[in-house]
Amino acid sequence: MKEKCEYVVPQMDRNLDLELIKVKAHAGDPWNDLADELAKKGAALSTYYQLTFNFGSQACRFSPHFEDTPIEQKLRNFLSTMGTVQSCSEWRDLRINEDIFVQRSIQYQWDVTWTAIQQVKHFRCTSFKRNSLWSFIIKILHHQLPVGRWLRKRKPFLYQNFHCQFCNIEADETISHLITCPHTAPLRQKIYEALRAFLSSTLPQFFDSLSSANLVNSEINGWIGTSIQSPRFLDLLKCAADGKMDSTLFTYI
Ligand SMILES: [Zn+2]
Repeated sequence: MKEKCEYVVPQMDRNLDLELIKVKAHAGDPWNDLADELAKKGAALSTYYQLTFNFGSQACRFSPHFEDTPIEQKLRNFLSTMGTVQSCSEWRDLRINEDIFVQRSIQYQWDVTWTAIQQVKHFRCTSFKRNSLWSFIIKILHHQLPVGRWLRKRKPFLYQNFHCQFCNIEADETISHLITCPHTAPLRQKIYEALRAFLSSTLPQFFDSLSSANLVNSEINGWIGTSIQSPRFLDLLKCAADGKMDSTLFTYI
């Protein structure tokens, strides 16, 4: 009390006659008793926070809640999580994500996408090359690579007659056209062969059961199909062009 007076009095008229009267607590008032009881319970919790006001020695203890549920982690972490949840929910509601989260036509293995992004974001993004890769991944994830269809929408006066640069016919340049265009088949073949070579050398290291070349080959056929015409390989390309991985692939693992 003395400390409080020392703080308050200098702010006022120094000739003030000050009389301090102790007011008895509201004992017997049921709501006050209930508040006291809750305060005691709150003080016994380990998750309370303590604020010490600079104009007094009294500390204010409080236990934060979110929609009637006590927050049992550090408040800063909780707020950070809530911010992330808010951003994720806004991202989920984007129209481009409708087939993923509303129609759910394909189940994706999201860990693969997040791992790819984790490799190049924040402090791992230390070069222009990494930055380009990061921006590339984000663009494919949101169908924003600057292919003909989008260029024509953005600048119709420039790209009015812009079509697939490989085809003589007037095919619309979209990602789905590019991964099926007959003229990009040699590129797909290169991707297929590189994948096959990578899996041939990698799979036996992880699966002891793949003890012979035949077993490895049949396993790889399950993963990526037998040729670039295989529906399996086409599905893989489609998902990769979206920055995602189809969960059904993991049934082979
Ligand atoms: Zn084409």
